[in-house]
Amino acid sequence: MATAGRRAAVILDRDGVLNVDQGYVGEVERLEWVAGARRAVRRMNDAGLLVIVATNQSGVARGLFDLAAVNAVHAQMRADLAAEGARIDAFYVCPFLPDAPLRAIAEWSIDPARALVIGDNLRDIEAGRRAGVRGALFPGGDLARFVASLALPK
Ligand SMILES: [Mg+2]
Repeated sequence: MATAGRRAAVILDRDGVLNVDQGYVGEVERLEWVAGARRAVRRMNDAGLLVIVATNQSGVARGLFDLAAVNAVHAQMRADLAAEGARIDAFYVCPFLPDAPLRAIAEWSIDPARALVIGDNLRDIEAGRRAGVRGALFPGGDLARFVASLALPK
């Protein structure tokens, strides 16, 4: 079978899904978690899914902050998640990776048929579709409740 050994995954947009989108979140001080987001990540961890973040940090390309600042935000997110027994397996920062979902699929041996993209923008869903991955558009609110309403990949 072509998909033998490949893994199931959820690929998450960051701003507006995990953290409140305040526009160019390039400082740890501006990191504000979306309600239920850490719980949602833990739920996906517990379901045995790879949890990957693909985030389009155009603030880097615009020179508003640098990649080190983005990495500092992601380190804080990892720490906050760890405190709740949750984990993100990898972050992909998109200014340099126009097709981050594709890259993640290749690098983590993800089966596109057993993957799901969660984004708050149709662009996120479209990026997933190009990689052969179905999408779920998060309308805002509580992420854990939203994830609980989805058929997660198995
Ligand atoms: Mg977003």
